[in-house]
Amino acid sequence: MTDRYAVFGNPIAQSKSPELHAAFAAQTGEDMSYERIEAPLGGFEAAVRAFIAAGGKGLNVTVPFKVEAEALADEARDSAAICGAANCLKIEDGRIVAENFDGVGLVRDIAVNLGVDLKGKRVLMAGAGGAARGALEPLIEAGVAEIVIANRDVAKAEAVARLLGPRGSIRASRYEALEPGFDLVLNTTSASLSGAEPPIPGKAFVGAELAYELAYGKGKTPFLARAEHYHVGRIADGVGMLVEQAAEAFAWWRGKRPDTAPVIAQLTVPLD
Ligand code: NDP
Repeated sequence: MTDRYAVFGNPIAQSKSPELHAAFAAQTGEDMSYERIEAPLGGFEAAVRAFIAAGGKGLNVTVPFKVEAEALADEARDSAAICGAANCLKIEDGRIVAENFDGVGLVRDIAVNLGVDLKGKRVLMAGAGGAARGALEPLIEAGVAEIVIANRDVAKAEAVARLLGPRGSIRASRYEALEPGFDLVLNTTSASLSGAEPPIPGKAFVGAELAYELAYGKGKTPFLARAEHYHVGRIADGVGMLVEQAAEAFAWWRGKRPDTAPVIAQLTVPLD
């Protein structure tokens, strides 16, 4: 029988997850269906339970339900528990288990697809929202030396910096106080979605080997254009992260890891 999966969000029409999972299923020969479900605001848990009762085996979760998804799970794995948000649920023996693969997708894209060694690197992370929280543990696990989180609302950056406690060298900063010396500059803000950019001082880009924009499909965003202006070694957007987090979910659900390279190539919008 065909196993049923879905992505839940509100709105949901924009989600690329059905195409990604259809490509992975075709590639690996898995018999599964994957649909978009727009849960009503305030009705996420009921919609998830109805989906499970109808035989759903797992689901992805996107804005604005990631925090609720972690909260309703019977068990939250580290990646979800640390950031208090889940982007993936799996039904295991009738129990709901939560994971968050956004951060691991980001790290795989940087380390494997872009070939950037993260060990000992100094990372500037602009933004302190859900994507920033999810990225912390995988970056520390990958061996970065330090993460500095800059955010307009600096109290939010301080709260995020405390999430991993003594497990990593993570601190908060105001944008104006940033100094040069970063190897990687990550834009985890949602500024690019409205054509804006975070107020990172130019000197914070100087000498960096990679500027990475988590948003995708937007071409060369103001953040990436600015990084180029300051001669950052390389620029990239988040299409690889998107595909890698989907591949992690697929592997967790189905026990098979798909080849991500052709899917990334298919979705890539040139950065020029
Ligand atoms: P959140 O809403 O949780 O956080 C938004 C963050 O952006 C906050 O830190 C906010 O700062 C900051 N921000 C918003 N506008 C501006 C601005 N004009 N200038 C400076 N800072 C700004 O969003 P998410 O963390 O969920 O998503 C962030 C980005 O990551 C989005 O672009 C999203 O598309 C992308 N993303 C990509 C994924 C991928 O697979 N490639 C996966 C997940 C997310 P403040 O607190 O000061 O308001």
